[in-house]
Amino acid sequence: MYDYLIVGAGLYGSVFAHEMKKAGKKCLVIDKRSHIGGNVYTREAEDINVHEYGAHIFHTDNKAVWEYMNSFADFNRFTNEPIAIYRDEIYNLPFNMNTFHQMWGIRTPEEARRIIKEQVEAERISEPKNLEEQALSLVGRDIYEKLIKGYTEKQWGKKATELPAFIIKRLPMRFIYSNNYFNDRYQGIPVGGYTRIVERLLEGTEVILNADFLKDREQYSKSAKKIVFTGMIDEYFNYEHGELEYRSLRFQHEVLDTDNYQGSAVVNYTEYEVPYTRIIEHKHFEFGTQPKTVITREYPEKWEQGCEPYYPVNDARNNEIYAKYRQMADNEKGVLFAGRLGEYRYYDMHHIVQRALEMAVLEKEA
Ligand code: UDP
Repeated sequence: MYDYLIVGAGLYGSVFAHEMKKAGKKCLVIDKRSHIGGNVYTREAEDINVHEYGAHIFHTDNKAVWEYMNSFADFNRFTNEPIAIYRDEIYNLPFNMNTFHQMWGIRTPEEARRIIKEQVEAERISEPKNLEEQALSLVGRDIYEKLIKGYTEKQWGKKATELPAFIIKRLPMRFIYSNNYFNDRYQGIPVGGYTRIVERLLEGTEVILNADFLKDREQYSKSAKKIVFTGMIDEYFNYEHGELEYRSLRFQHEVLDTDNYQGSAVVNYTEYEVPYTRIIEHKHFEFGTQPKTVITREYPEKWEQGCEPYYPVNDARNNEIYAKYRQMADNEKGVLFAGRLGEYRYYDMHHIVQRALEMAVLEKEA
């Protein structure tokens, strides 16, 4: 008999398992995939740590979370400075003085502010009702058309006028010459890859791979006093209130016989006509000097049952459906729903670590 059955060996499940094991609890972690780590999983190819499920760049403002992660791996000083390609033009991201110079040939923050103000005013939007209006009222027409519209519409598979405004609030804008994508105080990539961290988190904990909880839930449920479920909350409840909407991705990995393909870890392709949103060149996360390189093209895809769900689509309709599942979850005794899929929230890694540590504290006190 286990104290906890943890469904999902991703970052949430692994941090929670680690903490509860430290507290003397007996945990079993199961995962339907054939490896641990969930989407932070990295594997080695050509002596390069490949982010199998897309770029994972750790960043946080939370000192405790940063120190926690650093107790399992050394982090390098990688700073995310993606570039954007729009047709034959190249721009720095996030929107900053370099971008404004590339876009309009201007040099000073004053000039940039004036152009953006003029463009924003020309749109005459008083209350942005969707992502397009939100973007236009933040950055104006030029940046929206070249760097946001196409990328966003292919990423989400919807018109920008049909998307909620909050998504774009993730995109920072600043009037200094700085290409650092994140505002957070701490940032880096774990030397040796994320899988190593998860291995260390799960050291001494029993893990069963290729194990699908939902296919055998009665049997599994009997094995533990409590369950932590990090899978899809709607699937857990057999889609009783209908499907929540997710966005899926397809990753196409390729080994290339060159030591440097694109000169940057992350390159976004912001025009709609290019079917992928970005190309990751993994070696640059760790300043690699290997003779070959591994790149990954990221294609957004429609999610349907059976596909991997990567992003929740937190618009009003889905949040309403989620609220119903949340209520069912609250009545589901002995089961905790957690993580990006269990809570249907667009969490980053640092949020996940924080949530798992908080939950572990609550459980230890219970
Ligand atoms: N985005 C955009 N252009 C870009 C990059 C991002 O318009 O070049 C928008 C897009 O709507 C995306 C959102 O910003 O969904 C958040 O992007 P980010 O790369 O921060 O999210 P991630 O996919 O890495 O979680």
